Amino acid sequence: MPLQPDIVDQIVRIIGEERRVLIKKTDLLSYGYDASFGFFVPDLVCQVKCVEEVSEIVKLANREKIPITPRGNASGLSGGALPIEGGIVIDVSLWNDVLEIHRDDMIAIVSPGVITADIDRAAQKVGLMYPPDPSSSNVSTIAGNIAENSGGPRGLKYGVTKDYVLGLQVVTPEGHIIRTGGRTIKNVTGYDLTKLIVGSEGTLGIITEAILRLIPRPQATISLMAVFDDIVQAGYAITNVLTSGILPSKIEFMDQASIRAVESYKPMGLPINAEAVLFIELDGHPLAIRDEADYVYKLMQKTGALRVQKAETSDQEEKMWKVRKLVSPAVARHKPTKISEDATVPRSQIPSFLKRLREIKDKFDIDLVVFGHAGDGNLHPNILCDQRNKEEMKKVEKAVAAIFEAALDLGGTLSGEHGIGLMKKSFMPMEFDQFSLEMMKRIKQAWDPNNIMNPGKIFPKPGDRLVLR
Ligand SMILES: Cc1cc2nc3c(=O)[nH]c(=O)nc-3n(C[C@H](O)[C@H](O)[C@H](O)COP(=O)(O)OP(=O)(O)OC[C@H]3O[C@@H](n4cnc5c(N)ncnc54)[C@H](O)[C@@H]3O)c2cc1C
Repeated sequence: MPLQPDIVDQIVRIIGEERRVLIKKTDLLSYGYDASFGFFVPDLVCQVKCVEEVSEIVKLANREKIPITPRGNASGLSGGALPIEGGIVIDVSLWNDVLEIHRDDMIAIVSPGVITADIDRAAQKVGLMYPPDPSSSNVSTIAGNIAENSGGPRGLKYGVTKDYVLGLQVVTPEGHIIRTGGRTIKNVTGYDLTKLIVGSEGTLGIITEAILRLIPRPQATISLMAVFDDIVQAGYAITNVLTSGILPSKIEFMDQASIRAVESYKPMGLPINAEAVLFIELDGHPLAIRDEADYVYKLMQKTGALRVQKAETSDQEEKMWKVRKLVSPAVARHKPTKISEDATVPRSQIPSFLKRLREIKDKFDIDLVVFGHAGDGNLHPNILCDQRNKEEMKKVEKAVAAIFEAALDLGGTLSGEHGIGLMKKSFMPMEFDQFSLEMMKRIKQAWDPNNIMNPGKIFPKPGDRLVLR
């Protein structure tokens, strides 16, 4: 339902600049999408640039019970930034004016719209590193990363976003401006609200500033590629590296379908007849990683790799990692709809999960592509399909449920990094019993009594389905 003209007038007065308040249908349509496959158009969009604006708009929305959906750069894959109940989208992507590096405290202070990769680039200039590196790091915002608790290839060694958020400024669903945590590495004062907000998918408040931990930048890296003619054997190779006493900074996996998709998108010289390739990066002191790289090289050969290749120059190394970044756009070209799952299993179960995925692909006769951050058990089974084909989608829905079932059977979880949002909420009861879910709902109710903050996300309602368009 469109907002009343007097509400729109009040919002324009709060923002003070009419061009940052969007109400034209053509503008609103572009806010109906994110990188998932849903489509929901908001009634109004505010492009905010300071905490006072956010606080005043949220107070107004809370008073009038208007839904609010926070949004970064809409690269989310679980539909978190989609305004499924209409209302106001609060877009923080233009709010990128603060990116301070405090070298002595080894922290960064950032405004919510700062692009993730820019934080690491700024840290690099003073010999530091911001490790979380989602493959979307050149487009995603830090607020989106915090809301989703994003991870990336370096998560294997360095952990994910939550491990680097020291403090936050947040506007609560009632419009109060609060601070959590701070600039110190250690802080056990009171409940850890920072950790509660990280990964809350925009349902508990709007992140307006973050204090991030930085670490010393490793001096050097060495990267290797190992080629396999058996996908499950590649899984064993991952387990062998991880139990060898060496902890690589990245182990990424691509199956044959993703190898071929990249080659037809942008020829990179990949072995198109291989069943799987692994990309491995070691980082640290140059002498130490030289020995480690030799060891991993031999280990790959011993585990049945057809070929192992070490990048000899920085150009070769850059090319290896570019290949991995190309997978998502390359596979997206094949069919109109790409369902990107991120079910995650304990590391020891990687070979079994790969086996189960192969069985699911055959059983449901689906176009399944598997790649991802295999070193931490976070594989990305992607189903390529056409959402307009109802018969095909019935099959796909069953296949998605089978993927989750397999991950949970193996001791895993529905989502390792993309969040639940809209797309996975109907599967939540597969992982949680009624009372565990109830405790989460009580937290939501306490923070957001009028249920205005990103309503309709995370928690399932009877009749919820995967395909919601
Ligand atoms: C090609 C590609 C590769 C990807 N690779 C990875 C990967 O390797 N690892 C990974 O984890 N993810 C990955 N993603 C998913 C996505 O990039 C991440 O989830 C990212 O964190 C989303 O950031 P965003 O700025 O685009 O947020 P959006 O998509 O705009 O929003 C995501 C969620 O954050 C909430 N939100 C946004 N801003 C705020 C705020 N200020 N306060 C509170 N909540 C807010 C939204 O409501 C929504 O629920 C990938 C996506 C693509 C398209």
